[in-house]
Amino acid sequence: MFKHDEILLGKILGIEITLNYSWLLILAIFTVYLALTVFPAVEPTKPAALFFFMGLSGSILIFGSILLHELAHSVVAVRGGLAVKKITLFLFGGASRISEEPGTPQLEIRMALSGPVASLVLGFIFINIGLLVQHYYFNAHLTIALFTLVGLTNITLAIFNLLPGFPLDGGRVLRGILWLRSRDLKKATTQATNGGEIIAYLLIAAGILEIFFISFFGGIWLILIGFFLRQMARWSYTQTLANFALKNMTAMEIARPLVGVENNLSLTDFSEKAMNHEKFFLVQKGGHAIGIISAQILHKVTADEWAIRRVGDKSLPLGSFSRIRSGDAALEALKILQEKPNMPVLVYDQDGPVAIITFDEIAGFLSRPEFKPLNFWQSDG
Ligand SMILES: [Zn+2]
Repeated sequence: MFKHDEILLGKILGIEITLNYSWLLILAIFTVYLALTVFPAVEPTKPAALFFFMGLSGSILIFGSILLHELAHSVVAVRGGLAVKKITLFLFGGASRISEEPGTPQLEIRMALSGPVASLVLGFIFINIGLLVQHYYFNAHLTIALFTLVGLTNITLAIFNLLPGFPLDGGRVLRGILWLRSRDLKKATTQATNGGEIIAYLLIAAGILEIFFISFFGGIWLILIGFFLRQMARWSYTQTLANFALKNMTAMEIARPLVGVENNLSLTDFSEKAMNHEKFFLVQKGGHAIGIISAQILHKVTADEWAIRRVGDKSLPLGSFSRIRSGDAALEALKILQEKPNMPVLVYDQDGPVAIITFDEIAGFLSRPEFKPLNFWQSDG
């Protein structure tokens, strides 16, 4: 059930639904906020326990709504032929883990619109439930407030997500439209990311104004969302560029060639070899590759063992690594690493393993100047 910092809630349509622990925090804050402000303002004479119950109900309905928003994106993605592994709910909402970029601008636009459309529909439904309750149970003020609140939150979510800044849904729609017009996904991404940065700064500015003139809590919240969006915009941009960059590369071009060490080399001698910052070595016996040894292993073996232990004692068999052919696409290596982040990928040519790829190799490749996060207003054409 517990995987890293996430809780697995279940599977819907083959998509894992997970909850980041940060969501529990926001659920608690939101419940307390609603219980102390919104509901007492509606009917101050009711008991506090009821306010907390209503607060928790509201938080859970909003949580469910966000999940449906993400499911809408995922269903359109799956029907468009993309693989969706999971949906994670976290501090600022939800994220669908869609493993590929949509292949066409039309699919991008449909996928991006589906979430906000789901939120609008939910908003409409909840507001109408509120109106019905009001019609039939005139005195159920708290229940009316609950449904109206959840309805309005959904509509706010739809509007916020439709802001034209990448990677928000609206920014994706914008990117899809620009992509459709220019047929240049990279240029469209740059322009839509600029949109994302502008909106992030506008949110931060609006948050500062709100602190002074309206509400401290709301202002801080807007500023946080602004910074988060700015970070997301840059990160998504780098991700997209990474996909572009790796698209035309082979695994061998980004891999680090393996240096060979003999099977019967002592760890003391190995430590001298490992000083030149290589992290992994190919272990050979009579010219044949038999395993991989990590320089990290030296930290796990006591220094007096170094003299008696051999490289072969501490190597991992080749079979325990994922493998890829040297001519395969570099993107394949990235996909494998995303599945098993701690296991390096071995690159094989016709004679056997010749190189290795870890996240370090990919990060090193992407730290080249052309992949630096873009500066505000920067545009590469
Ligand atoms: Zn969305």
